[in-house]
Amino acid sequence: MNATTNATQDDIRNVIIIGSGPTGYTAALYTARANLQPLLIAGSADKKTSRIKGGQLMATSDIENFPGAIETGVDLDTWAYLDEAAQAEAIKDVKGLSGPHLMTRMELQARHFGTEMLEEFVTEVDICSHPGDFYTVKTEGGKEFKTRALIVATGAAAKTMGIPAEDKFFGKGGGVSTCATCDGHSYRGKTVAVVGGGDSAMEEASYLANLGIKVHLIHRRDEFRASKIMVQRAQKNPNITIHTFRSIVDLKGKPHPLAATTPFYKDDEVLTHAILEDPRDGSREELAVDGVFVAIGHTPNTGLFKDQLKMDEAGYLERDRHMRAIPSMNACNRKLHAMEHVPGVFVAGDVSDHVYRQAITAAGMGCMAAIEAERYIAEKLADEMGMDSEALDISTESIAHSHWSNERDQMGEKPMVERVVEAANA
Ligand code: NAP
Repeated sequence: MNATTNATQDDIRNVIIIGSGPTGYTAALYTARANLQPLLIAGSADKKTSRIKGGQLMATSDIENFPGAIETGVDLDTWAYLDEAAQAEAIKDVKGLSGPHLMTRMELQARHFGTEMLEEFVTEVDICSHPGDFYTVKTEGGKEFKTRALIVATGAAAKTMGIPAEDKFFGKGGGVSTCATCDGHSYRGKTVAVVGGGDSAMEEASYLANLGIKVHLIHRRDEFRASKIMVQRAQKNPNITIHTFRSIVDLKGKPHPLAATTPFYKDDEVLTHAILEDPRDGSREELAVDGVFVAIGHTPNTGLFKDQLKMDEAGYLERDRHMRAIPSMNACNRKLHAMEHVPGVFVAGDVSDHVYRQAITAAGMGCMAAIEAERYIAEKLADEMGMDSEALDISTESIAHSHWSNERDQMGEKPMVERVVEAANA
């Protein structure tokens, strides 16, 4: 493996990252700064499942809890010189960046440091054939890549209600959406239902209500998973009516206004009513709505790794404390059975986390996976060059330390793979 620092010289890449949320972009930033020339396969656009370049945050309005990701009217270079009153005034102006804005910044930063991006979905990953040597990744566009290390950052996708009528009205302005910030603006002055009792449902309902839309929040129980403050915010909003003990069981519509004139809409309908059912007694009622926003949680995007990587009962990927993937029980016809982890395959972010699920925790895990991938590649390179990893101080700690900007800028410290190559050539 003589080309680790210049992956284009052979046809095996150093690292491929699958997924373009905060996890994927952070992993890309770190591996790019480590001179590993990462390829980030970002997905393109499937709004229904939030499988969209940029991930779930593309459907988020203001992000208030990603530290530092704020907009403010104040020139921050002058902050320290402002008096107390001016600082207090400036704090009132602070506003979180929008999800798309933050994701665009992350993409630019990752690309600035040398990340190559591909906007396609991955259709197949072969973990089984050459474990510890290389892995093969195929895309919907028919491309095929080999990589020494793989960082799985595929995130999670929006759940749908699973009623047959849902598909009929999904997309093309039909009336069903899983993304209020993407589609809400076209319902101004209209009436919609938001389904769910978690924070997402409360957030979407408030967002839509604040656009002047009349919102019916539909929840199947009378207890909410959402935090108290989010529920109270929705309860206080005059544009939101909360219906508990109700599920949407069917949807009704009328022909799309353009059906007669535009072939694209020929067989389409637009939503007019949601049929609600009380789960306690099965009684039904019709609710006149122009749209239904489904906000009932997420499913991890792990289909690519079925029968290869270990998942929990809900389908989230398992990993060890070095972010390494664990082979599934019968992985690759038991070929990986004896391995405690799959060498070179790392797992990070919402695809492996159903507890924290924050942009900032996802980003943190992306950083950890990148540092572990860098260590893996440096060790592999040292091994193949007959060098002693310990003598070269190839460890998670030393690699993490080498990412401190001061070390880079002031001490001229080089990325670990370069240090290995230099030591081998010395
Ligand atoms: P969630 O907390 O899992 O809530 C999902 C909701 O949908 C539950 O109320 C559930 O009902 C309901 N539901 C599930 N399947 C359903 C179905 N088939 N039909 C009807 N209702 C169904 O998911 P989430 O709201 O997406 O939140 C996920 C995580 O992200 C949470 O940890 C949350 O705190 C966090 N989050 C935070 C913010 C924020 O802080 N701004 C915003 C969004 C999300 P049951 O309760 O009856 O099961």
